[in-house]
Amino acid sequence: MKQSNLFTKTSKDDPRDEESLNAKLLMRAGFVHKVMAGVYAFLPLGLRVLRKIEGVIREEMEKMGGNEVLMSALQSKADWETTGRFNTVDVLFKFTSFYSKNDYVLGPTHEEEVTPLLKQHIFSYRDLPAYVFQFQNKFRDEKRAKSGVLRGREFIMKDLYSFHSDEVDLDSYYERMKDAYERIFEKLGIGEKTYLTFASGGTFSKYSHEFQTLTSAGEDIIHICDDCRVAVNDEVMADAGGCPKCGKKDLRTEKAIEVGNIFKLMDKFSVPFDLKFKDVEGAEKNVLMGCYGIGINRCLGTIVEVSHDEKGMIWPSSVAPFRFHLLEMKPGLGKDVYDRLVTDGFEVLYDDRDVSAGEKFADADLIGIPWRLVVSDRNKDKIEIKRRNEEKTELVDYETVCRLQ
Ligand code: ATP
Ligand code: MG
Repeated sequence: MKQSNLFTKTSKDDPRDEESLNAKLLMRAGFVHKVMAGVYAFLPLGLRVLRKIEGVIREEMEKMGGNEVLMSALQSKADWETTGRFNTVDVLFKFTSFYSKNDYVLGPTHEEEVTPLLKQHIFSYRDLPAYVFQFQNKFRDEKRAKSGVLRGREFIMKDLYSFHSDEVDLDSYYERMKDAYERIFEKLGIGEKTYLTFASGGTFSKYSHEFQTLTSAGEDIIHICDDCRVAVNDEVMADAGGCPKCGKKDLRTEKAIEVGNIFKLMDKFSVPFDLKFKDVEGAEKNVLMGCYGIGINRCLGTIVEVSHDEKGMIWPSSVAPFRFHLLEMKPGLGKDVYDRLVTDGFEVLYDDRDVSAGEKFADADLIGIPWRLVVSDRNKDKIEIKRRNEEKTELVDYETVCRLQ
Protein backbone atom coordinates (compact mmCIF):
# COMPACT_ATOMS: atom_id res chain seq x y z
CA MET A 1 0.00 0.00 0.00
CA LYS A 2 1.24 3.42 -0.89
CA GLN A 3 1.38 5.70 2.11
CA SER A 4 0.37 8.63 -0.10
CA ASN A 5 -2.92 6.79 -0.59
CA LEU A 6 -3.53 6.37 3.14
CA PHE A 7 -6.07 8.92 4.30
CA THR A 8 -4.90 8.80 7.91
CA LYS A 9 -2.25 11.15 9.24
CA THR A 10 0.17 10.61 12.08
CA SER A 11 0.50 13.07 14.90
CA LYS A 12 3.51 14.07 17.00
CA ASP A 13 1.35 15.10 19.93
CA ASP A 14 -0.66 12.99 22.29
CA PRO A 15 -4.40 13.34 21.90
CA ARG A 16 -6.15 15.40 24.53
CA ASP A 17 -8.62 13.65 26.86
CA GLU A 18 -6.83 10.32 26.63
CA GLU A 19 -4.96 8.80 29.55
CA SER A 20 -4.08 5.36 28.35
CA LEU A 21 -0.82 4.63 26.60
CA ASN A 22 -2.29 2.16 24.11
CA ALA A 23 -4.88 4.63 22.89
CA LYS A 24 -2.38 7.49 22.72
CA LEU A 25 -0.02 5.52 20.48
CA LEU A 26 -2.79 3.97 18.38
CA MET A 27 -4.40 7.37 17.84
CA ARG A 28 -1.15 9.18 17.09
CA ALA A 29 -0.23 6.54 14.50
CA GLY A 30 -3.70 6.67 12.91
CA PHE A 31 -4.66 3.09 13.84
CA VAL A 32 -7.82 4.08 15.68
CA HIS A 33 -10.17 7.02 15.96
CA LYS A 34 -11.82 7.83 19.25
CA VAL A 35 -15.53 8.34 18.72
CA MET A 36 -16.26 8.92 22.42
CA ALA A 37 -15.14 7.46 25.74
CA GLY A 38 -14.89 3.68 25.35
CA VAL A 39 -15.76 3.69 21.64
CA TYR A 40 -13.06 3.48 19.00
CA ALA A 41 -13.27 3.14 15.22
CA PHE A 42 -10.59 1.08 13.50
CA LEU A 43 -8.77 2.77 10.64
CA PRO A 44 -6.85 0.99 7.83
CA LEU A 45 -3.66 0.20 9.77
CA GLY A 46 -5.49 -0.75 12.97
CA LEU A 47 -8.00 -2.84 11.07
CA ARG A 48 -5.21 -4.84 9.46
CA VAL A 49 -3.89 -5.72 12.91
CA LEU A 50 -7.38 -6.55 14.16
CA ARG A 51 -7.96 -8.90 11.21
CA LYS A 52 -4.61 -10.60 11.77
CA ILE A 53 -5.38 -11.20 15.43
CA GLU A 54 -8.70 -12.68 14.35
CA GLY A 55 -6.86 -14.85 11.82
CA VAL A 56 -4.56 -16.30 14.48
CA ILE A 57 -7.55 -17.07 16.70
CA ARG A 58 -9.72 -18.42 13.86
CA GLU A 59 -7.06 -20.94 12.88
CA GLU A 60 -6.96 -22.36 16.39
CA MET A 61 -10.75 -22.35 16.82
CA GLU A 62 -11.13 -24.27 13.57
CA LYS A 63 -8.57 -26.79 14.81
CA MET A 64 -10.82 -27.15 17.86
CA GLY A 65 -13.71 -28.08 15.56
CA GLY A 66 -15.40 -24.68 15.83
CA ASN A 67 -18.08 -23.76 13.28
CA GLU A 68 -17.91 -20.04 12.60
CA VAL A 69 -21.18 -18.08 12.60
CA LEU A 70 -22.16 -14.46 12.97
CA MET A 71 -25.02 -14.03 15.39
CA SER A 72 -26.88 -10.74 15.75
CA ALA A 73 -25.74 -7.92 17.99
CA LEU A 74 -29.37 -6.91 18.51
CA GLN A 75 -31.03 -9.37 20.85
CA SER A 76 -34.49 -9.97 22.19
CA LYS A 77 -35.57 -8.94 25.67
CA ALA A 78 -37.59 -12.14 25.92
CA ASP A 79 -34.46 -14.31 25.75
CA TRP A 80 -32.84 -12.24 28.49
CA GLU A 81 -35.96 -12.63 30.61
CA THR A 82 -35.83 -16.39 30.10
CA THR A 83 -32.49 -16.50 31.90
CA GLY A 84 -33.53 -13.90 34.43
CA ARG A 85 -30.61 -11.70 33.43
CA PHE A 86 -32.56 -8.79 31.93
CA ASN A 87 -32.58 -7.01 35.27
CA THR A 88 -29.41 -8.39 36.85
CA VAL A 89 -26.65 -7.66 34.32
CA ASP A 90 -25.62 -4.11 35.13
CA VAL A 91 -23.69 -3.49 31.90
CA LEU A 92 -26.68 -4.33 29.68
CA PHE A 93 -27.57 -1.68 27.08
CA LYS A 94 -31.35 -1.74 26.66
CA PHE A 95 -33.67 0.33 24.56
CA THR A 96 -37.23 0.48 23.23
CA SER A 97 -38.29 0.59 19.59
CA PHE A 98 -39.92 3.89 18.69
CA TYR A 99 -42.42 2.10 16.41
CA SER A 100 -43.30 -1.21 18.01
CA LYS A 101 -42.46 -0.25 21.59
CA ASN A 102 -40.66 -3.62 21.82
CA ASP A 103 -37.61 -3.74 24.07
CA TYR A 104 -34.23 -4.78 22.79
CA VAL A 105 -30.81 -5.59 24.16
CA LEU A 106 -27.44 -4.93 22.55
CA GLY A 107 -25.64 -8.20 23.23
CA PRO A 108 -22.87 -7.97 25.85
CA THR A 109 -22.39 -11.75 25.39
CA HIS A 110 -24.29 -14.41 23.43
CA GLU A 111 -25.45 -17.27 25.66
CA GLU A 112 -29.01 -15.92 25.39
CA GLU A 113 -28.83 -16.18 21.62
CA VAL A 114 -26.68 -19.25 21.01
CA THR A 115 -28.66 -21.56 23.32
CA PRO A 116 -32.05 -21.12 21.58
CA LEU A 117 -30.20 -21.30 18.26
CA LEU A 118 -28.65 -24.68 19.06
CA LYS A 119 -31.99 -25.91 20.42
CA GLN A 120 -33.11 -25.95 16.79
CA HIS A 121 -30.29 -28.35 15.91
CA ILE A 122 -29.57 -30.59 18.89
CA PHE A 123 -31.96 -33.50 19.51
CA SER A 124 -29.97 -36.61 20.17
CA TYR A 125 -26.55 -37.70 21.47
CA ARG A 126 -25.60 -38.00 17.80
CA ASP A 127 -25.79 -34.21 17.48
CA LEU A 128 -23.20 -33.73 20.22
CA PRO A 129 -20.67 -32.37 20.79
CA ALA A 130 -21.19 -29.10 18.88
CA TYR A 131 -18.92 -26.06 18.79
CA VAL A 132 -20.01 -22.64 17.57
CA PHE A 133 -17.91 -19.50 17.48
CA GLN A 134 -17.98 -15.96 16.13
CA PHE A 135 -16.19 -12.63 16.10
CA GLN A 136 -18.87 -10.21 17.18
CA ASN A 137 -19.26 -6.67 18.43
CA LYS A 138 -20.33 -6.66 22.06
CA PHE A 139 -21.83 -3.76 23.91
CA ARG A 140 -21.34 -3.16 27.60
CA ASP A 141 -22.27 -0.12 29.61
CA GLU A 142 -18.93 -0.15 31.42
CA LYS A 143 -18.79 2.24 34.35
CA ARG A 144 -15.23 3.29 33.64
CA ALA A 145 -13.66 3.32 30.19
CA LYS A 146 -10.25 4.85 30.77
CA SER A 147 -7.99 2.08 29.52
CA GLY A 148 -8.21 2.86 25.82
CA VAL A 149 -9.05 -0.17 23.68
CA LEU A 150 -8.51 -2.48 26.66
CA ARG A 151 -11.98 -1.69 27.98
CA GLY A 152 -14.55 -0.44 25.52
CA ARG A 153 -18.29 0.09 25.66
CA GLU A 154 -18.28 -1.51 22.23
CA PHE A 155 -15.64 -4.13 21.41
CA ILE A 156 -15.08 -7.27 19.41
CA MET A 157 -14.97 -10.62 21.13
CA LYS A 158 -14.27 -14.08 19.87
CA ASP A 159 -16.74 -16.24 21.73
CA LEU A 160 -17.01 -19.98 21.32
CA TYR A 161 -19.74 -22.06 22.92
CA SER A 162 -19.40 -25.81 23.29
CA PHE A 163 -22.25 -28.28 23.80
CA HIS A 164 -21.70 -31.70 25.34
CA SER A 165 -23.59 -34.82 26.37
CA ASP A 166 -21.63 -35.34 29.58
CA GLU A 167 -19.13 -33.76 31.93
CA VAL A 168 -16.24 -35.98 30.87
CA ASP A 169 -16.57 -34.71 27.33
CA LEU A 170 -16.89 -31.07 28.48
CA ASP A 171 -13.83 -31.46 30.73
CA SER A 172 -11.63 -32.88 28.03
CA TYR A 173 -12.64 -30.17 25.55
CA TYR A 174 -12.04 -27.52 28.21
CA GLU A 175 -8.52 -28.85 28.83
CA ARG A 176 -7.73 -28.87 25.11
CA MET A 177 -8.99 -25.30 24.87
CA LYS A 178 -6.42 -24.24 27.47
CA ASP A 179 -3.68 -25.46 25.14
CA ALA A 180 -5.29 -23.74 22.15
CA TYR A 181 -5.38 -20.47 24.10
CA GLU A 182 -1.74 -20.86 25.05
CA ARG A 183 -0.82 -21.31 21.40
CA ILE A 184 -2.86 -18.21 20.48
CA PHE A 185 -1.19 -15.91 23.01
CA GLU A 186 2.21 -17.31 22.06
CA LYS A 187 1.53 -16.47 18.39
CA LEU A 188 0.29 -13.01 19.32
CA GLY A 189 3.67 -12.37 20.93
CA ILE A 190 2.35 -12.07 24.50
CA GLY A 191 2.83 -15.72 25.52
CA GLU A 192 5.75 -15.05 27.82
CA LYS A 193 3.78 -12.51 29.85
CA THR A 194 0.48 -14.39 29.87
CA TYR A 195 -0.51 -16.65 32.75
CA LEU A 196 -3.23 -19.24 33.08
CA THR A 197 -5.06 -17.80 36.09
CA PHE A 198 -7.50 -19.44 38.48
CA ALA A 199 -10.57 -17.27 38.87
CA SER A 200 -14.03 -17.52 40.30
CA GLY A 201 -15.97 -20.45 38.85
CA GLY A 202 -19.51 -19.25 39.30
CA THR A 203 -22.02 -21.68 40.74
CA PHE A 204 -20.84 -24.91 39.16
CA SER A 205 -17.12 -25.34 39.33
CA LYS A 206 -14.57 -24.30 41.89
CA TYR A 207 -12.62 -22.24 39.36
CA SER A 208 -12.87 -20.79 35.90
CA HIS A 209 -9.69 -19.87 34.08
CA GLU A 210 -8.54 -16.53 32.82
CA PHE A 211 -5.57 -15.72 30.66
CA GLN A 212 -3.92 -12.72 32.26
CA THR A 213 -1.13 -10.70 30.65
CA LEU A 214 1.25 -8.78 32.88
CA THR A 215 1.12 -5.03 32.29
CA SER A 216 1.00 -1.95 34.46
CA ALA A 217 -2.08 -0.95 32.44
CA GLY A 218 -3.90 -4.00 33.80
CA GLU A 219 -6.99 -3.64 35.96
CA ASP A 220 -6.60 -6.96 37.77
CA ILE A 221 -4.24 -8.15 40.49
CA ILE A 222 -2.91 -11.68 40.15
CA HIS A 223 -0.64 -13.81 42.31
CA ILE A 224 1.89 -15.85 40.36
CA CYS A 225 3.41 -19.22 41.23
CA ASP A 226 6.69 -19.26 39.30
CA ASP A 227 7.18 -22.97 39.98
CA CYS A 228 3.92 -23.99 38.29
CA ARG A 229 3.71 -21.00 35.89
CA VAL A 230 0.10 -20.34 36.87
CA ALA A 231 -1.56 -17.51 38.74
CA VAL A 232 -4.51 -16.88 41.05
CA ASN A 233 -6.80 -13.91 40.59
CA ASP A 234 -6.88 -11.69 43.65
CA GLU A 235 -10.68 -12.14 43.86
CA VAL A 236 -10.26 -15.84 44.77
CA MET A 237 -6.90 -15.64 46.53
CA ALA A 238 -8.48 -15.71 49.99
CA ASP A 239 -10.35 -18.93 49.11
CA ALA A 240 -7.46 -20.55 47.25
CA GLY A 241 -4.97 -19.79 50.03
CA GLY A 242 -2.02 -20.32 47.68
CA CYS A 243 -1.10 -21.93 44.37
CA PRO A 244 -3.97 -24.30 43.44
CA LYS A 245 -1.44 -26.66 41.88
CA CYS A 246 1.37 -26.99 44.44
CA GLY A 247 -0.02 -25.18 47.46
CA LYS A 248 2.84 -22.68 47.64
CA LYS A 249 1.81 -19.68 49.75
CA ASP A 250 4.45 -17.13 48.86
CA LEU A 251 3.30 -15.90 45.45
CA ARG A 252 4.48 -12.95 43.35
CA THR A 253 1.83 -10.22 43.02
CA GLU A 254 1.48 -8.34 39.73
CA LYS A 255 -0.95 -6.16 37.77
CA ALA A 256 -2.43 -7.85 34.73
CA ILE A 257 -5.17 -7.62 32.13
CA GLU A 258 -7.55 -10.47 31.29
CA VAL A 259 -7.14 -11.18 27.57
CA GLY A 260 -9.30 -14.29 27.55
CA ASN A 261 -11.24 -16.65 29.73
CA ILE A 262 -12.80 -20.09 29.67
CA PHE A 263 -15.76 -21.12 31.74
CA LYS A 264 -17.80 -24.26 32.32
CA LEU A 265 -21.43 -23.17 32.13
CA MET A 266 -22.71 -26.72 32.75
CA ASP A 267 -26.55 -26.53 32.52
CA LYS A 268 -26.92 -22.87 33.54
CA PHE A 269 -28.36 -21.95 30.13
CA SER A 270 -29.71 -25.30 28.94
CA VAL A 271 -32.14 -25.44 31.87
CA PRO A 272 -33.91 -22.09 31.22
CA PHE A 273 -34.03 -22.72 27.47
CA ASP A 274 -34.90 -26.40 27.95
CA LEU A 275 -32.03 -27.54 25.75
CA LYS A 276 -32.13 -31.33 26.06
CA PHE A 277 -30.98 -34.36 24.08
CA LYS A 278 -31.89 -38.03 24.01
CA ASP A 279 -29.05 -40.28 25.15
CA VAL A 280 -28.27 -43.77 23.75
CA GLU A 281 -31.03 -45.30 25.88
CA GLY A 282 -33.53 -42.66 24.76
CA ALA A 283 -33.55 -40.83 28.09
CA GLU A 284 -33.78 -37.02 28.03
CA LYS A 285 -30.83 -35.14 29.51
CA ASN A 286 -29.66 -31.55 29.79
CA VAL A 287 -27.00 -30.49 27.34
CA LEU A 288 -23.85 -29.24 29.13
CA MET A 289 -22.13 -26.11 27.91
CA GLY A 290 -18.79 -24.31 28.06
CA CYS A 291 -17.89 -20.80 26.87
CA TYR A 292 -14.56 -19.43 25.77
CA GLY A 293 -13.91 -15.73 25.15
CA ILE A 294 -11.05 -13.61 23.87
CA GLY A 295 -11.17 -9.83 23.53
CA ILE A 296 -9.82 -8.79 20.13
CA ASN A 297 -9.43 -5.07 20.79
CA ARG A 298 -8.10 -5.91 24.20
CA CYS A 299 -5.44 -8.22 22.73
CA LEU A 300 -4.47 -5.48 20.30
CA GLY A 301 -4.18 -2.92 23.09
CA THR A 302 -2.29 -5.39 25.28
CA ILE A 303 0.28 -5.97 22.55
CA VAL A 304 0.83 -2.19 22.38
CA GLU A 305 1.15 -1.98 26.18
CA VAL A 306 3.78 -4.72 26.36
CA SER A 307 5.60 -3.95 23.12
CA HIS A 308 6.56 -0.32 22.55
CA ASP A 309 9.34 2.17 23.26
CA GLU A 310 9.49 5.96 23.56
CA LYS A 311 9.27 6.28 19.76
CA GLY A 312 6.23 4.15 19.14
CA MET A 313 4.79 0.68 18.76
CA ILE A 314 6.71 -2.53 17.99
CA TRP A 315 4.45 -5.10 16.32
CA PRO A 316 5.27 -8.80 16.39
CA SER A 317 5.40 -10.01 12.78
CA SER A 318 2.38 -12.32 13.29
CA VAL A 319 0.00 -9.36 13.61
CA ALA A 320 1.92 -6.39 12.15
CA PRO A 321 -0.11 -4.35 9.65
CA PHE A 322 2.64 -4.95 7.07
CA ARG A 323 5.86 -6.94 7.01
CA PHE A 324 7.94 -4.19 5.42
CA HIS A 325 7.91 -0.42 5.69
CA LEU A 326 9.69 0.80 2.57
CA LEU A 327 11.06 4.36 2.75
CA GLU A 328 12.39 6.15 -0.32
CA MET A 329 14.79 9.04 0.16
CA LYS A 330 13.95 10.61 -3.22
CA PRO A 331 10.63 10.58 -5.08
CA GLY A 332 10.18 7.43 -7.17
CA LEU A 333 13.36 5.75 -5.95
CA GLY A 334 11.57 2.94 -4.13
CA LYS A 335 9.02 2.15 -6.82
CA ASP A 336 10.88 -0.78 -8.41
CA VAL A 337 11.53 -2.46 -5.07
CA TYR A 338 7.90 -1.90 -4.05
CA ASP A 339 6.51 -3.40 -7.26
CA ARG A 340 8.81 -6.39 -6.97
CA LEU A 341 7.92 -7.05 -3.34
CA VAL A 342 4.20 -6.81 -4.07
CA THR A 343 4.56 -9.14 -7.06
CA ASP A 344 6.44 -11.58 -4.83
CA GLY A 345 3.51 -11.57 -2.40
CA PHE A 346 4.82 -9.42 0.45
CA GLU A 347 2.82 -6.93 2.44
CA VAL A 348 4.53 -3.56 2.12
CA LEU A 349 3.71 -0.08 3.27
CA TYR A 350 5.54 2.16 0.79
CA ASP A 351 6.31 5.65 2.04
CA ASP A 352 6.20 7.45 -1.30
CA ARG A 353 5.21 10.76 0.29
CA ASP A 354 7.11 13.91 -0.50
CA VAL A 355 8.15 14.62 3.08
CA SER A 356 11.50 14.85 4.87
CA ALA A 357 13.56 11.78 5.71
CA GLY A 358 13.25 12.70 9.38
CA GLU A 359 9.48 12.60 9.17
CA LYS A 360 9.54 9.24 7.40
CA PHE A 361 11.86 7.72 10.01
CA ALA A 362 9.77 9.08 12.89
CA ASP A 363 6.56 7.71 11.36
CA ALA A 364 8.17 4.32 10.74
CA ASP A 365 9.13 4.14 14.41
CA LEU A 366 5.68 5.24 15.53
CA ILE A 367 3.79 2.79 13.28
CA GLY A 368 6.10 -0.04 14.32
CA ILE A 369 6.26 -2.35 11.28
CA PRO A 370 8.88 -5.08 11.98
CA TRP A 371 11.28 -4.26 9.11
CA ARG A 372 12.23 -0.84 7.81
CA LEU A 373 13.70 -0.80 4.28
CA VAL A 374 15.42 2.34 3.01
CA VAL A 375 16.19 3.01 -0.64
CA SER A 376 18.47 5.95 -1.35
CA ASP A 377 20.94 7.09 -4.02
CA ARG A 378 23.78 6.60 -1.57
CA ASN A 379 23.03 2.89 -1.20
CA LYS A 380 23.16 2.24 -4.96
CA ASP A 381 21.41 -1.07 -5.69
CA LYS A 382 21.41 -2.19 -2.08
CA ILE A 383 18.58 -1.86 0.40
CA GLU A 384 19.20 -0.72 3.94
CA ILE A 385 17.37 -2.93 6.43
CA LYS A 386 16.61 -2.32 10.09
CA ARG A 387 14.51 -4.18 12.59
CA ARG A 388 12.08 -1.97 14.52
CA ASN A 389 13.39 -3.21 17.84
CA GLU A 390 17.10 -3.02 17.01
CA GLU A 391 19.47 -0.14 16.31
CA LYS A 392 21.77 -1.70 13.75
CA THR A 393 21.27 -1.25 10.01
CA GLU A 394 22.66 -3.38 7.20
CA LEU A 395 22.95 -3.06 3.43
CA VAL A 396 21.64 -6.10 1.61
CA ASP A 397 20.38 -7.18 -1.81
CA TYR A 398 16.78 -7.85 -2.79
CA GLU A 399 16.98 -11.62 -2.27
CA THR A 400 18.07 -11.15 1.33
CA VAL A 401 15.10 -8.87 1.99
CA CYS A 402 12.77 -11.63 0.78
CA ARG A 403 14.24 -14.02 3.32
CA LEU A 404 13.86 -11.73 6.33
CA GLN A 405 11.70 -13.26 9.02
P1 ATP B 1 -13.42 -8.03 32.74
O1 ATP B 1 -13.23 -8.89 33.96
O2 ATP B 1 -12.15 -7.48 32.22
O3 ATP B 1 -14.49 -7.01 32.90
P2 ATP B 1 -15.15 -10.06 31.81
O4 ATP B 1 -14.75 -11.07 32.80
O5 ATP B 1 -16.42 -9.34 31.98
O6 ATP B 1 -13.96 -9.00 31.61
P3 ATP B 1 -15.99 -11.79 29.66
O7 ATP B 1 -17.39 -11.44 29.77
O8 ATP B 1 -15.60 -13.13 30.07
O9 ATP B 1 -15.08 -10.68 30.36
O10 ATP B 1 -15.47 -11.52 28.19
C1 ATP B 1 -14.50 -12.32 27.51
C2 ATP B 1 -13.31 -11.47 27.09
O11 ATP B 1 -13.74 -10.26 26.44
C3 ATP B 1 -12.47 -10.98 28.24
O12 ATP B 1 -11.54 -11.96 28.60
C4 ATP B 1 -11.80 -9.76 27.65
O13 ATP B 1 -10.67 -10.13 26.89
C5 ATP B 1 -12.84 -9.22 26.72
N1 ATP B 1 -13.56 -8.08 27.27
C6 ATP B 1 -14.48 -8.09 28.27
N2 ATP B 1 -14.97 -6.87 28.51
C7 ATP B 1 -14.35 -6.04 27.64
C8 ATP B 1 -14.43 -4.64 27.35
N3 ATP B 1 -15.26 -3.86 28.03
N4 ATP B 1 -13.64 -4.13 26.38
C9 ATP B 1 -12.80 -4.93 25.69
N5 ATP B 1 -12.68 -6.24 25.89
C10 ATP B 1 -13.44 -6.81 26.84
MG1 MG C 1 -13.34 -11.13 34.26
